[in-house]
Amino acid sequence: WTVIGIETSCDDTSVAVVTSDRRVRALVTRHQTKQHEATGGIVPTAAAIAHSMALPGAIREALETAGIRNACEEIDAVAVTRGPGLAPKPLVGVHHMEAHALTPRLTQEAPPEFPFLSLLASGGHTLLLLSEGLSRHTILGTTLDDAVGEAFDKVARTLVLPWLPTGGGAGAALEQWAAHATGGYAVTFPVPMRDGRDKPASRLNMSFSGLKTSVFRHVQTLQESDPAAWSAAMASTEPSSGIRADIARAFQDAAVTHLADRLDCVLAETITVRKVHPTCVVAAGGVAANQVLRARLGDVAGKYGLRIEIPPPRLCTDNAAMIAWTGIERLRAGLVDPWALDYVPKWPLNEFKQSESARL
Ligand code: ATP
Ligand code: FE
Repeated sequence: WTVIGIETSCDDTSVAVVTSDRRVRALVTRHQTKQHEATGGIVPTAAAIAHSMALPGAIREALETAGIRNACEEIDAVAVTRGPGLAPKPLVGVHHMEAHALTPRLTQEAPPEFPFLSLLASGGHTLLLLSEGLSRHTILGTTLDDAVGEAFDKVARTLVLPWLPTGGGAGAALEQWAAHATGGYAVTFPVPMRDGRDKPASRLNMSFSGLKTSVFRHVQTLQESDPAAWSAAMASTEPSSGIRADIARAFQDAAVTHLADRLDCVLAETITVRKVHPTCVVAAGGVAANQVLRARLGDVAGKYGLRIEIPPPRLCTDNAAMIAWTGIERLRAGLVDPWALDYVPKWPLNEFKQSESARL
């Protein structure tokens, strides 16, 4: 085993890398004597500041001295002092999807106030949520199969769309190709769950796997019936008009219309049945970076006299700013977690009981 140890209980910031065969591969200790000499003793807050200043460098130096290049692979565990001595910083455990939902409270000029309605559309989730407070999110609708981001990713792969140098992955590539569509190649895909056969209970839920399969079958048929046209279409390595752009747009239109439809249903239900008046509509998650979707959701919210608040694209996809911000919101509400924080592999957003965040 290889373990990194961190000691910060008093006035020494110390980091070591030790292995189970009793080797100390690195030991870096930064003394704070200078700071404390001036005050004639250890002032805890000053010591805490000195630790946080010294730690990054000490960790880097310890890893370097130990010859560790890939800490993720080579370090088996992190050991930290729990006490006795100076209290470590509070630890705030964050639910990744709550963080997506709260991002507009960080980024928007008029931060959404609770209660608000959100559409979280990402690679792993497609959720319509009523958020009434921290840890208080009711799932009103969800996908019954694939997440919408997953469908964007799979359709982009089916169309062999190269990723953009500007980032955003397959979804962003699909959006750019769709923007080049001219309609020269006539194709449409049915909007999911619109044929009335679905039970009323699924009115608020969504489905993207059938749509994804329709695109897949369409491309397969085209490849078999007109291989020359398909290989000509494949020649382009950057977003351009043609068959691939037209198919991308037809898929995006159906997916966006489905999401807009469902937002409409959920808003009507929330206002008329639940009698809750949301202050605004929020959209977040990677797919909310999509400009066509942003505009359509804005139209739906506007129908109900509501604003739409969507973070800038780089804060729609995964980022640590949203995690830190959610940390601030929870800290501010006195919600910190025990140091023995468990990893939660499956954690539905409406089951916050499990987190057991303690009051400060
Ligand atoms: P989750 O948040 O559910 O755990 P995740 O963290 O993997 O999933 P995000 O990083 O929030 O997902 O979002 C990534 C998804 O967003 C990918 O599926 C990607 O294709 C999609 N995406 C990114 N940009 C766009 C865009 N411009 N248009 C459509 N989809 C996009
Ligand atoms: Fe995410």
